[in-house]
Amino acid sequence: MIVVTDEEANTVSKKLQITRKSFDQAYLEKGGFELMLMNSMPCSFLMDDSCSIYDQRFEGCREFPALHLNDFKKRLFSHFMHYSRCPILFNVIEQLKIELRFELNDSQHD
Ligand code: SF4
Repeated sequence: MIVVTDEEANTVSKKLQITRKSFDQAYLEKGGFELMLMNSMPCSFLMDDSCSIYDQRFEGCREFPALHLNDFKKRLFSHFMHYSRCPILFNVIEQLKIELRFELNDSQHD
């Protein structure tokens, strides 16, 4: 999940020249612990296979898949949920598979 902070929401709503309230209604949903989460798959900011807010993209996008945090394996399932969020996140996962030398074993091939 990509969490959006108050500060990030303010920054991007300014860039989009919409009110913060409009931004929240259009792009965010509330998760557990009152976290604000991006609400769309694929991402609303994906335009022509590029991030339309790249310079202001959220910390969760910048640090994805957050290898610096503990318990990577426990977060693996949620990482794969981002495959269809945007090509940047898709490419990060694909690169990670190469670096980890991920291979299907014989029983997993069609
Ligand atoms: S990096 Fe991808 S998921 Fe993040 S805001 Fe940009 S298009 Fe959306």
